[in-house]
Order: sequence, then structure tokens, then C-alpha cells
Amino acid sequence: MGQRAGRPKSSRTFKLEGYQTMTAEADEENGTEDALEKRKKMLQAICGMADLRNGAVGLYNIGLSCCLNSLLQVFFMNRHFTMILRRIKVPFDPTEQKASIPYQMLLLLEQMQQSKRKSVHPVDLARCLSIHNVKFLVLYDASHLFLILWNLIKDQITNVDLAERLTVLYTIRLQEHLVCQKCSTETKNASNMLMLPLPLFDSDFRLVRTLEDSLCCFFAPEQLTDENACHCEECEMKMPCLRSMKVMHLPQTLMLHLKRFCCKEGSHTRKIRHSLAFPQSLDFSQILTSEQYYPDAQEEVSWDDVKCTYGRASLRWGETAYILVYMKKNGGKL
Ligand code: ZN
Repeated sequence: MGQRAGRPKSSRTFKLEGYQTMTAEADEENGTEDALEKRKKMLQAICGMADLRNGAVGLYNIGLSCCLNSLLQVFFMNRHFTMILRRIKVPFDPTEQKASIPYQMLLLLEQMQQSKRKSVHPVDLARCLSIHNVKFLVLYDASHLFLILWNLIKDQITNVDLAERLTVLYTIRLQEHLVCQKCSTETKNASNMLMLPLPLFDSDFRLVRTLEDSLCCFFAPEQLTDENACHCEECEMKMPCLRSMKVMHLPQTLMLHLKRFCCKEGSHTRKIRHSLAFPQSLDFSQILTSEQYYPDAQEEVSWDDVKCTYGRASLRWGETAYILVYMKKNGGKL
């Protein structure tokens, strides 16, 4: 499988970090009016540079809310996110308003932009979150809190189109390939993620030093044996499998989670503090192989994919074609 040859011509480079590059270029012009105007236009042109760049103030830490504050600022920095937030339907009832996280986030964003103070207190949003069992005076793992927040926001956006936009903005589409080590039967499973959980150790438990190496570890083929073995439809039992992951689509906003809390000592979880370098821009086509990186190729089906629907007695009905459609080509040949 996977005969699609060569890498796609267009690669996706994430522009979150593009701001730093452009800032450096603008700084070289020593802050003249033209340079400042140019810089402003460049900032506006960069995907994801949003409302907080336009003179918003900061957030006070209220009861260990530093992790929440950081996440809020990351959300508010993302123009694609704030465009969704600004289009939500405002709840009519005051009680509903107090319980609506998207609405309270919108109010907080407005406060941050209009306040004359140094910072604002995210008290109303904190109260709103506590209604939904997100407690304060509790230390959260940032990735865990991001997922809680994201799910609450999405669930509370009543406009279906906006909720879908939020999903598209953050969803990473992957494909898992499992190959039975006995009969070579291949199984493909689609998988959606909001964050890639990236390891800080390679398969030999050596520390990974760069983000690129961590991504390579995440996408490296892995032997699944013993208790990790997978059910094979052909063998009709659990069999050792070779598992590999492929990128099918990268979203506008890519969230990467460095697993710095994966090392347990007794009942304690220790933070892994070693240095892991990450680049200013990230180009997956330069990191992963053409077998691992199929950006936006989910609409394309190879002939080998089609041949999987020939059918076998052991396969479930859903995997077997029963209607065939042929389209006439030029010359009348089907
Ligand atoms: Zn098998």
C-alpha cells in the first residue's frame, strides 16, 4: 500500500512563528514611521496574529490561574479563533450568559482590549468555568486544560457552522496503518486529534533533543506485540502488528504537546526538564517521509485502496463493494 510516489509539491509551513521572523526584518529599519506601518501590515497579514496584538492588556493570576491565563492568551492571539468567538450568538438570559464560556471569553477579550489598567482579572470567566467543574486553586496540566476548555467552548457554541469551523481550525487528521505480521493484511483507521502528544524519549529511551526528532519518533513504525497485539480480521485472532501513523491533514492551528510529565517515580510524576529545541518554522514535508506525510490527500483514493473492497469471506460486509460505478471516458471505453 501507499504507492503514491513522491512528496506533494505544496508543503504547509506553520506561520505562528512567522511573526518572529517578520519582526526581526522590521526591526532592521529602526522604527521609522514607514517601517512601523509596514510591520503593522505584515502583522495583519500573518495568519493567527490577532486581537491581543492591538494594545490589549494582560491578565492577573487569580488562584493558580497562570496556566489558564496562558491558554486564554494563546486562544486570543489566534485571529481565526477570535473571528469565531465574535460571531457567537449571545445568550439572552443573564443566567445563561454567566454560564456561557464562549460569551464570557468574548467579554474578557473586550475587557483586555478596552481596559486602561495594566491587567484585568478574569473573575467572571473563572466563575463560569467553576459552574462547569473547572476548579480554581488546582494545578492543571496545560494540555489537559486546553482540551477541557476547547470541548466546553465547542459544546456551547450553538451555531453549527461556527462549531464546525472551530473543529476544522484545530483538528489534525491522521491515519493509522496496522499490518498483521503473519498474513500481511493491512487495516487503516482514521483518527482525529486536537494535539499531537510528542515523546521526549526515543524507542531506546534516549532523550530526544529536537522537535523534529520527536515528530519522527511519534510517526516511526512500531511493533505491537504481546498485550499490545491487534485483532486481525484474516487470522481471526490477536496478532503481532506493525503500526504506523500518517498525516492526512494539518489544521490552520497546530497544537503540539511535549510530554514532559511522562516519567513516574513511585506515585509522583516528575517533570522532564531537559532542553528540546524547536524551529522557528515547521515544515512537515522536510521532517517526515512521503510515506508518512499525505497532506490533504484524503479525497484521493489509490487503486490499491479500491482493491481492498474486492472482499474476503472473513471481512465484515461494510468493507466489501456491492455497487460499482464506471464513468465513460473519451472514445467510449469504460
Ligand atoms: Zn493476520
